[in-house]
Amino acid sequence: MRNYQLFIGGQFTDGEHGERIESLDPYHGKPWAELARATRGDVDRAVKAARHALDNGPWSKLTATARGRIMRKIGDLITRDADRIAEIEARDNGKLLAEVRGQLNGVAECWYYYAGLADKIEGAWIPVEKPNTMAFTMREPIGVVAALTAWNSPIWFATVKSAPALAAGCTVVVKPSEFASASTLELAALIKEAGMPHGAFNVVTGYGHDAGAALVEHPDVAMITFTGSDLTGAKIYETAAKHMKRVALELGGKSPNIVFEDADLDLAASGVVSGIFGAAGQMCTAGSRLLVQKSIKDVFTTKLVDLARYIRMGDPMNPKTNVGPISTPPQFQKVLDYIQIARKDGARCILGGNRATGAGLSAGQFVEPTIFSDVTNDMRIAQEEVFGPVLSIIEFDTEDDATRIGNDITYGLVAGVWTQNIGRAMRMTKALKVGTVWVNTYRAYSFMMPFGGTKKSGLGRESGIEAINEYLETKSVFVSTATEGPTNPFIMR
Ligand code: NAD
Repeated sequence: MRNYQLFIGGQFTDGEHGERIESLDPYHGKPWAELARATRGDVDRAVKAARHALDNGPWSKLTATARGRIMRKIGDLITRDADRIAEIEARDNGKLLAEVRGQLNGVAECWYYYAGLADKIEGAWIPVEKPNTMAFTMREPIGVVAALTAWNSPIWFATVKSAPALAAGCTVVVKPSEFASASTLELAALIKEAGMPHGAFNVVTGYGHDAGAALVEHPDVAMITFTGSDLTGAKIYETAAKHMKRVALELGGKSPNIVFEDADLDLAASGVVSGIFGAAGQMCTAGSRLLVQKSIKDVFTTKLVDLARYIRMGDPMNPKTNVGPISTPPQFQKVLDYIQIARKDGARCILGGNRATGAGLSAGQFVEPTIFSDVTNDMRIAQEEVFGPVLSIIEFDTEDDATRIGNDITYGLVAGVWTQNIGRAMRMTKALKVGTVWVNTYRAYSFMMPFGGTKKSGLGRESGIEAINEYLETKSVFVSTATEGPTNPFIMR
């Protein structure tokens, strides 16, 4: 068993009551690490450390260029330790080692990217219409940022929130998911090694309802950036509203992957399969609704089933594995429950539909890649996020139908469009009410591209240059250059 502590004020430390949480290896079905369970008191210590670093500590005295230098060093250390951290992440949440290893390249690049941005945050000179007046704006860090993250890509979420926040001059307290906190604490160790001033970056581990809630409510937290379910996101938004804190919310999805009759069907089939069965469907961006044009429905369904039938489930560490386990026990149960709901509501299961228990799978939380046909968009399986390897096939007639069904959902995170007609691709891109559209591809991400949702998929954007704005306040400054006061000081000038 590995033992992890909290990271507060630049030091690894136990929680005040010494309580521990076990972290499960979802492939072996056994606990493999222990985490500290932070109390309200521990959260208060972490926020105070972050506040002190911001107000009086060495962090507040660094130039933006020096901040960028430390962040570049963090990128270097992640590159050095990427193999080791990838193994820890894969063991902790069951994601494929090969996928996590690839993601760590992006993690390092993301630190370099925002390191470069740290000293390019500029205010503006405004030629105001007033005589004898100089006016300009300053961009200032919003304050202490609380970053709450989900279990499916913890080190990525910790990075894509902390790197722009630190570049902006903020300080950060991260609360990773109680189901997968290890990689965030490994990141903390590298941040310490990189020479980050004490208190600028802190990690508290524990449960959402106590440590997470305490962090969101803390009066010294100015902003909350959250990745997780829409239910928790709504609770956080409500609390934030009471205290008038800024929020950025990256929430769930029920994304349409839309295949037209003029698409390259082999390419589309492979995009649809990886879009729902990659990471065992545990992606906010999972293409869980396949919208397929009626004229090709049968031929395309056959192609899909033929591909998905050969998916190899198994050990996430094995490079030959295509799909790993479901990461957490409650999520495992939720996926199995949704399969029953779909059956009861009249969807026809044409592949999978059960817990997978073949050779090497029985200890882990495996669900067979599952495909439902004859789904209508009003069924729960078409409307609610499963966050697992379950695909619903819905047919459509015309382009207008595809748009209507695609948008007939409370979420709006991503959409896939498969067609060889450029005009159609552009019309669909414009018509779909989502944050990202993928044309003839799926699961394409870049730390340079803004990412986020519309509707119940969230508020704000992560990644890219514009993400830095989430962490900045604008201050307007007027300076009088007049040598004499106004003739009538009671009239506004
Ligand atoms: P979750 O909402 O249960 O938990 C997310 C985080 O919030 C965890 O750290 C948890 O401890 C904390 N939390 C829980 N209750 C809290 C409370 N009352 N106050 C404060 N914090 C609290 O989500 P999850 O199960 O970890 O993640 C799965 C969800 O995340 C899915 O809905 C998925 O779509 C979403 N997700 C979204 C994105 C995105 O970028 N849009 C990416 C990945 C996952």
